[in-house]
Amino acid sequence: MRLILAQIGKDKTVKFAVKELVRLIKAMDNSVVLDIRKYEEKDNSVKNALWVGLDGSVEANSAEDSIYISVENGAGIISGSNERSVLMAVYRFMKEMGCRYLYPGKNGEKIPKRRLNYADLKAEVKETASYKHRGICIEGSVGCEHVYNTIDWLPKVGMNAFFTQFFTPGVFFRKYYEKFYNDKNDRDFGNELSNNDIDAMVSSLYDEIEERGLIYHAVGHGWNCKPFGFDDSGWEVYEGEISDDVRNLLALRNGKREFCGGIPKNTNLCYSNPYVQNRITDYITEYCANNPKVDYLHFWLADDAMNHCECEECVKKRPSDYYVDMLNLLDEKMTKAGVNTKIVFLIYVDLLFAPIKERIKNPDRFALMFAPINRWYNDSYADIDLENLPQLPEYERNKEFLRCGDAPNVAYLLEWRKIFDGKDAFDFDYHLMWNHHKDPGQFNVAEFLYKDMISLHKLGLNGMMSCQRLRSAFPTGLPQYAMASGLWDKNGSFESVKDEYFTAAFGDDAKAVNNYLREISNLFNPKDKTKLVTEEDYIIGYKKAKEVIKAFKEEYMERCKDKSDDWSYLMVHAELTDILSDAYIALYGDDKETADLLKEKFIALAKENEGIIDTVCDASLYCKTIFEMYFTKRV
Ligand SMILES: [Zn+2]
Repeated sequence: MRLILAQIGKDKTVKFAVKELVRLIKAMDNSVVLDIRKYEEKDNSVKNALWVGLDGSVEANSAEDSIYISVENGAGIISGSNERSVLMAVYRFMKEMGCRYLYPGKNGEKIPKRRLNYADLKAEVKETASYKHRGICIEGSVGCEHVYNTIDWLPKVGMNAFFTQFFTPGVFFRKYYEKFYNDKNDRDFGNELSNNDIDAMVSSLYDEIEERGLIYHAVGHGWNCKPFGFDDSGWEVYEGEISDDVRNLLALRNGKREFCGGIPKNTNLCYSNPYVQNRITDYITEYCANNPKVDYLHFWLADDAMNHCECEECVKKRPSDYYVDMLNLLDEKMTKAGVNTKIVFLIYVDLLFAPIKERIKNPDRFALMFAPINRWYNDSYADIDLENLPQLPEYERNKEFLRCGDAPNVAYLLEWRKIFDGKDAFDFDYHLMWNHHKDPGQFNVAEFLYKDMISLHKLGLNGMMSCQRLRSAFPTGLPQYAMASGLWDKNGSFESVKDEYFTAAFGDDAKAVNNYLREISNLFNPKDKTKLVTEEDYIIGYKKAKEVIKAFKEEYMERCKDKSDDWSYLMVHAELTDILSDAYIALYGDDKETADLLKEKFIALAKENEGIIDTVCDASLYCKTIFEMYFTKRV
């Protein structure tokens, strides 16, 4: 079969879309002969071409993604509302042909081998994404390739944004690479990474973002550090001297101005001080002017709670009032400088309390980002009754306040929405940061995440930037696959999304894997926890989990373990989860010594298998989270 692929125009993302179309068609059926052509614009006199690009069939919109596919007998148009949408439309066309993109990394891509004919190349799709914001934010420990894998995966599943965090996202890369340069036997890999080395990696990764036309978010925390000469690439304690000039800018707490816990990044400043306000807003303006590639610049305050300035001036208004003052000042300066970057402001810890006095003067400059870091993930946004939210407390400076749980966070958001109504706003949530490690099967996590995504609109949120470990696809990538699906189409169903996933990953055994992981999820992290009352109830659950794992291994593992990477992950996961069950049985049986031994055994096995699961599992943080955050009795 011969196909004419006709690229419309010269745009780099459309060019990349055509290259991806070629790659996927060839991987599916290498016998297809391709003519690849590049036209200035669509030429209707060309017979039987498959056009790729912007031809006016969808209204142009750089911010919102719509796709349009109309193909019959291998000819027609694959288009979108912008170049990025054209790329998404190409992936969607190939999905209609049978391809699936289950998780980041080469092995997450499932391309069926099949003999294509003209009649097969047929699809009609006209869709607009349900939400504007559909992104992933770097977290966890990452190597260059893991970040690349994520960026590459985003448009395949209709996601459109990536966020690198900080001026230099050093801490994430160092956490991954330190094991190489600390290993005496592996010194050849390279030297300890400087911020310069990491910036060099990010620079090359940005090329990938740009090629795909993705929306680029940057910075976040750090504006309380970098403009004042402090490193922002992690949460290190500052060991040097602090000059009086700098000290006078720090928040006054209990009569002293010092770094919060010694860490500049966690330290708020004296935000009523005009020098602080000007220094930060000048620095942001300059940064945006010098970095036009940044689409959304995040301006956040310190990364810690209840450490705002107690000086005579600062106590006159809420921290959010001073924050809004700075946002307004920033907007004035950016407008004057002719800089159009969108600024994201953060509703987080103390800033959950909405401002009383100040209002945002030019809302179009800004996007509100809701970051409920103290969520419990017990109640989905779908199930929170917005008419009966908890009563919010009065704001008391630097005093602990109601911020844990699910409904209270939503209550704060709705107060902010009253003063930023109908404007650009999105969620910054942490489903795949820590909480998913409570649920080794990750089936219930996936369902919860999906429910949240399809309900964001109820809260006035136009999408999500997922603050997550980039390697969150162990034992399967279902949670983030479901997340992407819910963000693209809020009218779908979890049933069909998970069936699609399991069928693509496990073929005829899809149902069995589905049931197995659902059962593991229910035994470790049941939706209905009321039945777990005594320690014995928990022990019964973990013993049952061991039986379920044993039965699954006997029935499927020997036969399937070499079938694909997906099965290899399940195999490693089964071994680990079996040990974890034993460890919990020992814990609930008050046998601390055995529990400690099993914990060491688990960590050793995860490390031993790092070579197999490296792409999909952030192994060291996986172990750390399970044992440092969740390995406690819940009765
Ligand atoms: Zn102050």
